Amino acid sequence: MKIKSAEFLVSNSDVLKCPSNKFPEYAFIGRSNVGKSSLINMLMQRKSLAKTSGRPGKTQLINHFVINNSWYLVDLPGYGYARVSKKAKKTFQKFITNYFEKRKQLVLAFVLIDCRHEAQKIDLEFMEWLGINQIPFSIIFTKADKLKPKALQKSIETYQTKMLEQWEEMPSYFITSSSKGTGREELLNYIEEVNKQMGL
Ligand code: GDP
Repeated sequence: MKIKSAEFLVSNSDVLKCPSNKFPEYAFIGRSNVGKSSLINMLMQRKSLAKTSGRPGKTQLINHFVINNSWYLVDLPGYGYARVSKKAKKTFQKFITNYFEKRKQLVLAFVLIDCRHEAQKIDLEFMEWLGINQIPFSIIFTKADKLKPKALQKSIETYQTKMLEQWEEMPSYFITSSSKGTGREELLNYIEEVNKQMGL
């Protein structure tokens, strides 16, 4: 898919106030610092469409971007930072679950995982929750350039083994590097395919 236009539309703290337009929507989510903003900028080939590493946890907003005037890319806040209270964590969880439960336009969630890290409980639990709630998702492994090819392969295989303890099959996944542009075409083509299935 060629990106002809990518524009920031609106930020919301309440899912019910999100755009009412029927565009198919793809949500990007992951632990803070996973490389989400960099990935969005890389996909859209814009330097700072999504802001990179701001203050984690300070902004709990649903950020809508309109792509090619036909689909929405949604940048959700990062989760899993350590220095917040239990109460703040609960509020955040509610905010995220609300979005996924109520957002009718959502077609697919992309769960971002740092390819260097072992499977983390918070990500596994989040994907399990998506599964239980029948929300389709794919995994995006980020920062692939940080590992040598063999180590990368091993890391993905280990992750896959961990996933298969919980899942019957590995969800579809992508390997990306924002600094090298790895995975861009694959990911955009995948979204294009799904858009086609949605009648776009
Ligand atoms: P976010 O908090 O998930 O939005 O993460 P950011 O996009 O702000 O990235 C967090 C840090 O990881 C920043 O220092 C980025 O420069 C770095 N980073 C993000 N993606 C990549 C990547 O693909 N390769 C490398 N080497 N560093 C990356």
